[in-house]
Amino acid sequence: MNLKQTGDTGVLSSIREKALYRSMRNVETGAGPWICIEGRRVLHLCSNNYLGLSVHPRVAGLAERYIENFGVGTGASRLISGNFTVHGLLEERLAAWKGKSKALLFPSGYMANVGVISALAGEGDAIFSDRLNHASIVDGCRLSRAKVFVYPHADTECLDEMLSRASGFRRRLIVTDGVFSMDGEIAPLGRLVELKGKHSARLIVDDAHGTGVVGERGAGSPSVFGVEDEVDVVVGTLSKALGSQGGFAAADGETVELLVNTSRPFIYSTGLAVPCAAAALAAVEIIREEFGTLERAWRRSASRLRLGLRAMGFNAGGAETPIVPVIVGDSRAALTFSAELFRRGVYAPAIRPPSVPDGTARIRVTVMASHTGDDVGFALDVFGEAGKAAGVIR
Ligand code: PLP
Repeated sequence: MNLKQTGDTGVLSSIREKALYRSMRNVETGAGPWICIEGRRVLHLCSNNYLGLSVHPRVAGLAERYIENFGVGTGASRLISGNFTVHGLLEERLAAWKGKSKALLFPSGYMANVGVISALAGEGDAIFSDRLNHASIVDGCRLSRAKVFVYPHADTECLDEMLSRASGFRRRLIVTDGVFSMDGEIAPLGRLVELKGKHSARLIVDDAHGTGVVGERGAGSPSVFGVEDEVDVVVGTLSKALGSQGGFAAADGETVELLVNTSRPFIYSTGLAVPCAAAALAAVEIIREEFGTLERAWRRSASRLRLGLRAMGFNAGGAETPIVPVIVGDSRAALTFSAELFRRGVYAPAIRPPSVPDGTARIRVTVMASHTGDDVGFALDVFGEAGKAAGVIR
């Protein structure tokens, strides 16, 4: 008997039994406010393309122009021959936007987190990580081999105590999502900055969901608190509000130099593809010009949606950001709810453990700046009907 196969089958059936089985659905159009899935046109309420830029003509247009001149792939690591002019140009813009002297691109936001954390902490060091941090932060912590202290979500008092008690470590890092991906709330960065000063630690903020979305000119969550200078490293992604693909870290020159020389995901991967860098370049420019309008649009939709859902009896939080979590609790119930939504023309899959803590399965609703008032009205009608059909509300 093939033991490995038996083991795999066991894992899969256990996943199925717990209603945690995952599969992919085929999207047949670009990531706009409405998409086509399996031949059906549905309202798209689960994308991180918060500003709608992945389908913006200027974003696609600049990517096309770069493809004409440079092709698609870079063909090598940035340290060999995969370092193209567009990379440097984009890094300059990202660094200036984030108020840092340098930025460094990675092939994805996931790799940026893993690459930064594992380069800045190692054996003999301590990392203090929020319990709800993204999986890429968790994996970066594991890879670093540092001692990891997980503090209760956003509990800065507890973190203060943990930092006081943890002595004898060479370097200490505090790492947090800037905007928590599954709940949409902003991390208490003002207090985290105080703690990093008090305990001589460094602060890394993963602003995957804050970049282009919150703060002055969309500069992200540190800018909401006016602490851009105090955050040591900002990690970000090009794959959400910037509508492209890729990740980055912004920091002081010496830290970026250290990443270039020691960060394995940077050194041992091919330079970011040309159209991805070019698309992000266009997106940064659009955000610089139009942030006010884009922000007003997502805020209007997010707050109307949240208030409407709460009024119907849903447990809906958020709205500081375009993320509006609708907590259901049980994974099976969340799956049923999502299926009822889809039947009625809304696409928003169930998010279940381990992406969220046990007992907090949810529909993670996200709005885009390109959703209209009619779209939000339709969403509220459908949530009301589907919520009743699934037994989530009465
Ligand atoms: N950090 C957070 C908080 C995220 O939600 C994600 C994306 O899912 C990432 C990092 C990874 O970014 P990317 O999708 O660009 O790999």
